[in-house]
Amino acid sequence: MQRGLQSCETCELLSQPVDGATSGRCPRCGQPVEFRKARSLQRTWALILAAAICYVPANLFPVLSTVTIEGAESDTIMGGVVLLWSPSGWPLSLIVLVASIMIPCGKIVALIHLLLSVQRGSIKNREERVRLYRLVEVIGRWSMVDVFVDTFTVALVQLQPLMSVEPGPGLFFFATVVVLTMLAVASFDPRLIWDSNNQKEVRHA
Ligand SMILES: [Zn+2]
Repeated sequence: MQRGLQSCETCELLSQPVDGATSGRCPRCGQPVEFRKARSLQRTWALILAAAICYVPANLFPVLSTVTIEGAESDTIMGGVVLLWSPSGWPLSLIVLVASIMIPCGKIVALIHLLLSVQRGSIKNREERVRLYRLVEVIGRWSMVDVFVDTFTVALVQLQPLMSVEPGPGLFFFATVVVLTMLAVASFDPRLIWDSNNQKEVRHA
């Protein structure tokens, strides 16, 4: 960065952008390259803390209100998991549990871990931390709200004849958690993981 070089996020190749440009393409693998993502740490912290806060109401408020012949019922995510748990319905129950409780929670914990270790200037387990970031990135691509909602609704419809299904306030918070964690993952710059080492090298030189 100090020498006007940009490193590729995919293959780590250093290259020099065209004069005056702040971004370009990696000459080796063609991936778009840019200097460090602006204010990556502050942005990621803000997004991930907001996501962690929304995670609480997402789990406490009902995500779906259903009206059946027997009456109206509101279910939280965990309530849905319990409701679906049966000899035939357990795979769906497991999908809802993993997709809507474990993955968002895991993403938040993983990103906070990455942020803290970067701020401490930790030089330990950097390969593992880069791998953790890539894993979170990949998982984020398919942990979409609609997949969850479809599964949840289909599962409930199978259980009992429904008269109407309405989204509850928990669904709004859940969607917010998904969007915020996706933005947080995108705003984290994995190159920060290696920065502490670069600074040390400069100091020793
Ligand atoms: Zn490259």
